[in-house]
Amino acid sequence: VQTKLPSVGTTIFTVMSALAVEKNAVNLGQGFPDFGCDPKLLDAVTAAMAAGHNQYPPMPGILPLREAIAAKVETLYGHRYDPASEITITAGATQAIITAILAVVHAGDEVIVLEPCYDSYAPNIELAGGTVVRVPLTPGSFRPDFDKIAAAITPRTRAIVVNTPHNPSATVWTEAEMRRLEALLAPTDMLVISDEVYEHMVYDGARHESAARFPGLAARSFIVSSFGKTYHVTGWKVGYVAAPAPLTAEFRKVHQFNVFTVNTPMQHALATYMADPAPYLELPAFYQHKRDLFAEGLAKTRLKLLPSAGTYFQCVDIREVSDLGEADFCQWLTREIGVAAIPLSAFYAEGFDQRVVRFCFAKKDETLRTALERLARL
Ligand code: PMP
Ligand code: GLN
Repeated sequence: VQTKLPSVGTTIFTVMSALAVEKNAVNLGQGFPDFGCDPKLLDAVTAAMAAGHNQYPPMPGILPLREAIAAKVETLYGHRYDPASEITITAGATQAIITAILAVVHAGDEVIVLEPCYDSYAPNIELAGGTVVRVPLTPGSFRPDFDKIAAAITPRTRAIVVNTPHNPSATVWTEAEMRRLEALLAPTDMLVISDEVYEHMVYDGARHESAARFPGLAARSFIVSSFGKTYHVTGWKVGYVAAPAPLTAEFRKVHQFNVFTVNTPMQHALATYMADPAPYLELPAFYQHKRDLFAEGLAKTRLKLLPSAGTYFQCVDIREVSDLGEADFCQWLTREIGVAAIPLSAFYAEGFDQRVVRFCFAKKDETLRTALERLARL
């Protein structure tokens, strides 16, 4: 067949997880928790199934879940989305992002991504017939460079994809940066795909700056989040998109034909479970403990820590430890040391190697300790 995505292979997350299993390595590569979710959430699924919630839900998702999301977003970020016309339940953030892109990107449109970025964005844009315009985040700090973003905007720029807290760099955009983005886009008709899947993983007292907080951004944004990240259930693949009604209408035109809707019992369970804000309000402290435990151990190695202000990722510079390139280092680390990591080059167009790798610390403390014992050999 003539491939539609010539530069795409199997995602690095799948490749590294398979290698970790094969080599019996501690898997700090692909981002997912190795601990269970709250048993109350599981009870809610069983209850939903027993109550007969096992047939197709409405196409945009069940209303009680959309209402719970609207209430939460309004409380946290001060913007009211109409559950009927502005919130859609998706099959994880992945389907939310590709659906938003397919819904608004026309052939020949340009879409800006800030590199390094999550690996699905560029192929999604290409599948829509769009052109990926890669603007680098500032080397070293990974902060947005608004002069470079401004210079990349042309009359054909349809949208920008923004991700805070940021995978893989673990940076968190400040209020001032969000305001710069809002001001930069004000004279344009550009849309924003705001990937906020790590919204509840922000540390050291900082706060998540959702695009929903900024009227000029909310009016042009698809805000994407994922219950998989927030409630430790990445395998459920349930997320959502919040966007103004005209954008949601376009989103649903595609959504109804690429997935139609999302599994029913999990939606009921999530709607019930969301009534209690404690699980997501407690998440920063829960993960900050793990970040600190992991960082303290890493500080005893010659790996150089980069700041981790949000997400469940910790990046390290490998220069002092190895002469290998990132990708080879991750292979070697998995095979010889027994710890899997992800090379940052996976988040760039081919060929960029800054000798930095990403670890995921969404693991039991004992898993992190085992990994640290092994990494102590470096
Ligand atoms: N965006 C980012 C930045 C992510 O890290 C992930 C998960 N790896 C996703 C989107 C996809 O989320 P989900 O698992 O809910 O599809
Ligand atoms: N988002 C996860 C990560 O960055 C992986 C998701 C996936 O495997 N596609 O590690």
